[in-house]
Amino acid sequence: MDNVGTCIYVKDSETGKCLFANKLLKRTFELELKNGTLDMLLANARPLGAKDGFYEVDHKERGRWYDLYQVLINWIDGRKVNLYALYDITDKKIYQKKIEQQAYTDFLTGLYNRMCCERDLAVQIDRAKGLKQQGGLLYMDLDDFKHINDGLGHQYGDVLLQSISHAFQRVEGIGETCYRMGGDEFIIIIPPESFSQIEIIIEDIKEIFSKPWYLKDADYYCTMSMGVCTFPHDGDTVADLIKKADIVMYEAKRAGKNRIARYSSDLNSLSNKRLDMEKNMRDATSDNCSEFNVYFQPIIDIQKPGAPCAGAEALVRWNSSALGFIPPADFIPLAEYLGLITPIGNYVLREACYACKKWNDNGHPEYKVSVNLSVVQLLQSDITEVVGRALRDTGIRPENLTLEVTESLAINDMKRMKVILGEIRKLGVRIALDDFGTGYSSLNHIREIPLDVIKVDQSFVKDLAEDEYSQSFIKMVAELASAIDVSICVEGIETREQYKVLEGMKVRLVQGYYFDKPLPREEFEIKYVME
Ligand code: C2E
Ligand code: CA
Ligand code: CA
Repeated sequence: MDNVGTCIYVKDSETGKCLFANKLLKRTFELELKNGTLDMLLANARPLGAKDGFYEVDHKERGRWYDLYQVLINWIDGRKVNLYALYDITDKKIYQKKIEQQAYTDFLTGLYNRMCCERDLAVQIDRAKGLKQQGGLLYMDLDDFKHINDGLGHQYGDVLLQSISHAFQRVEGIGETCYRMGGDEFIIIIPPESFSQIEIIIEDIKEIFSKPWYLKDADYYCTMSMGVCTFPHDGDTVADLIKKADIVMYEAKRAGKNRIARYSSDLNSLSNKRLDMEKNMRDATSDNCSEFNVYFQPIIDIQKPGAPCAGAEALVRWNSSALGFIPPADFIPLAEYLGLITPIGNYVLREACYACKKWNDNGHPEYKVSVNLSVVQLLQSDITEVVGRALRDTGIRPENLTLEVTESLAINDMKRMKVILGEIRKLGVRIALDDFGTGYSSLNHIREIPLDVIKVDQSFVKDLAEDEYSQSFIKMVAELASAIDVSICVEGIETREQYKVLEGMKVRLVQGYYFDKPLPREEFEIKYVME
């Protein structure tokens, strides 16, 4: 009995008197035997009323665990006694906890993971229901994280995710309830007891994203879009809530990113539309983009006699067999978000180059074609090869291809943008800065970015005939452009007055409905290619 490696303890079932204890038990539970707490420790291990069987002793004061086997037997003198056998399983327990911890922890950031989130959310939903209170769910997705990841490399993307995770953990009230769902998505659960603090917590999180992060060798800004739901009010199952919060978050993205959207009941129809569009877009891109068409809007040279066509801007159209016609402004943001802009954009690029080559070979060697490039495409590591291949495969002269880019990038990506555009330009391709005058554009960039064309945003043309500001703006851009030897193209000309004002300002290139809307290729060719 003294050598079995298990603690053995026998006591009279009626009087409770100890009849036997082996050496190991006496050694292990010396203190408990002395102050009479052993019986209680054993009693606490089994549920009330439970009899013989296997239990587990959780010895909290000592931080140890034991397997307990308890059985009622007849002692040598015939009386009934309780025999207890205790086996130390602390090492096993610690190991098990560690494994559990690992299974619930995100390896990269040390936050809890999706599995843990789902488990905890189920508990909190039940608690909120029981307490007849509300809890909150914040669903966050970093904006343009892909740019940082593709731009600086994964190791810096990882550093950013880690820094953001640490910042979350320091926010009061959510230290133990932030989860990384994968990629650049995070969830924060706000339990019922902190629900009254929800607005403060949201402010604290916004604050995290208001400051730049030092990565590689510069400061980078990273913003996030957040969807907010409450439970059980907005949803009372884990799957339903997470789905809804995701949809709300996407609404924040769609509205322009870097913002917070809240659940409302009419979101469901919206979300079904989005899910529909998502599925159909995936199908359409995997089907060789056959539902996508490229239209061409003529670009007119108004300084030449007769205002001839100088080429065209390629604009994508999606005619979905399931959803009907969808304008690009409605599906391009989603395509960027889903990573589908790359196949779609590559398709447009090839179609446009192929068409332009055909025009060049059929009497219009000077026609140029402009193709819009999304920032997401631009930051793909193989963008230069993709453009180079399009040139080779279609045989178009590089100087007849213009790539239009916007400045929707955070200031600090400029450095990288410059390098990429420089490489593309080495292929002989021209670069246009699109939508100039809106958003992030700054005059500094014009000087820094290797550029050939500045496209003035349509908004400046709207009241061009009366509005002095618009006039001076276009005049200024035109002068600036000529000073640095860049062309200027003004978009959105709808009336003859606008056309005349621009002509007077010595603007050379224009496009707009006044001349033509974007046309299917055949129509464009009938009108502008065949004489
Ligand atoms: P954007 O590059 O600024 O294209 C010009 C938009 O203005 C086009 O809209 C064109 O149809 C419209 N437009 C042209 N003339 C006039 C006019 O006189 N009045 C008015 N009100 N509008 C005029 P669209 O085709 O709907 O394209 C919208 C945006 O979608 C484009 O803006 C561009 O940012 C994006 N987009 C279109 N095709 C592609 C593509 O192939 N790839 C990428 N990445 N983006 C694209
Ligand atoms: Ca454009
Ligand atoms: Ca534009």
